Amino acid sequence: MSDKIPLHDVSEFAPAEVSEVDLYQKREKIYTRKIEGFFQRVRLFTGWPLLLGYFLLPWIHWGERQSVLFDLPARKFHILGLTFWPQDLSMLAWVLIIAAWSLFFVTVWAGRVWCGYTCPQTVWTSIFMWAEQFSEGTRNQRIKLDKSPLSFNKAWRKSLKHVMWMGFAALTGVTFIGYFTPIRELIPDLLGLQANMWAVAFTIFFTLATYINAGYMREQVCLYMCPYARFQSVMFDADTLTVSYDTARGEPRGARKRHASKPEDKGDCIDCELCVQVCPTGIDIRNGMQYECITCALCIDACNSVMDKMGYDKGLIRYTSENALNGKEVHWLRPRLIGYAVGILVMVVAFGARIYLRTPLEVDAIRDRNSLYTTNNMGMIENIYTLKIINMDDHAHRFVVSASGIKELAISGNNTIEAPAGEIVELPLRLEADPAYLRETSTEIEFSVSSESGNLSATSESRFLGPRTM
Ligand code: SF4
Ligand code: SF4
Repeated sequence: MSDKIPLHDVSEFAPAEVSEVDLYQKREKIYTRKIEGFFQRVRLFTGWPLLLGYFLLPWIHWGERQSVLFDLPARKFHILGLTFWPQDLSMLAWVLIIAAWSLFFVTVWAGRVWCGYTCPQTVWTSIFMWAEQFSEGTRNQRIKLDKSPLSFNKAWRKSLKHVMWMGFAALTGVTFIGYFTPIRELIPDLLGLQANMWAVAFTIFFTLATYINAGYMREQVCLYMCPYARFQSVMFDADTLTVSYDTARGEPRGARKRHASKPEDKGDCIDCELCVQVCPTGIDIRNGMQYECITCALCIDACNSVMDKMGYDKGLIRYTSENALNGKEVHWLRPRLIGYAVGILVMVVAFGARIYLRTPLEVDAIRDRNSLYTTNNMGMIENIYTLKIINMDDHAHRFVVSASGIKELAISGNNTIEAPAGEIVELPLRLEADPAYLRETSTEIEFSVSSESGNLSATSESRFLGPRTM
């Protein structure tokens, strides 16, 4: 047996050209075509309230202060007349859970309508696209402008676009910080170069983040950064509404003249690619459902306009479900949908009740750890505490403190304190107990705090220490 490995010439099987494949695909700029139609009008009605709400809310006053103000230094969140404290953090968790369930419900029912109609990334990107069209022209004009060498026309159009982008981004950044610092003070401070370093730094950060996200990254935020885009398809079922191309009706696609009678061997799709040109994520919906689709329905409006011109029925691309497309029975009421709806209803009612019954008073009794107990010259056992009273109400109150848990337990000295609105006050307290009534070395006691007006009260538990009893 030979100990040499035989060699064969395989060059005939080698590819004619060897090319390098870049593992990191370069982004191809998407030039979207402007389109009008029913769904774009619907998007105006969902986008504008969001924009107006975002920009106007900090300017609206509720009582004596800004309607929504997240006062981080004071650790208080003011939302439409209600003040939330760190102690209310569990309520924030409830809000987030309700929001998440609502999103699940909407996704199971109507797919990614949140992404297409109300997501801030989509709404802000639409504004930036409008500025782009305003300054650089239509899709074809923009493509031509980008390919043309630098000229006065190109320079001023590009400059105008960036000025508009930066202006809107700055407005967004300042407003965002205005939710954390009173906006009526923030803007004069920023203009007069008097604002504190953090306010300036975060305003610049959010301005740049908006400029980059809505101006440059656009659909890439949806495709690569948003976790919701990745897992939403798991929530879909065969009855979920999605933007779909009716393959049975559209194929085989093919070009033809307007109003010419439909060729018998062709479907309704005239292969004009208008649906691709309007798509903000640059996909072709005719290739089937794709995770890049944010269900903005631009392709529906585009295709409907084409169908109108051709004299065909609208809806070649439409909101429909897998079952409807396949001619199967459509189920509007599904167990999963009902489950989400019931869950949301229960949580909303429970949350509403929690808000309604919430007492804006919190009490915390802190026992002096430096001494176990002392015996005074009357033979009584004394323990020292500090009572922390958090008045979360919008009004000042005088509070009266009492203690219970041991027979004839008494407060020695002052047991009242004035607490201004939204302030924390501390009341040092000395409790006295007759040793004859102490059954244990450590007895559970309770402090009760009530406002003199009688409408606020809260309790806090602690322990009273004494000598060992026989
Ligand atoms: S817009 Fe309608 S007709 Fe034109 S390519 Fe798309 S699906 Fe076909
Ligand atoms: S495929 Fe249609 S609905 Fe989906 S993102 Fe593109 S234009 Fe919007």
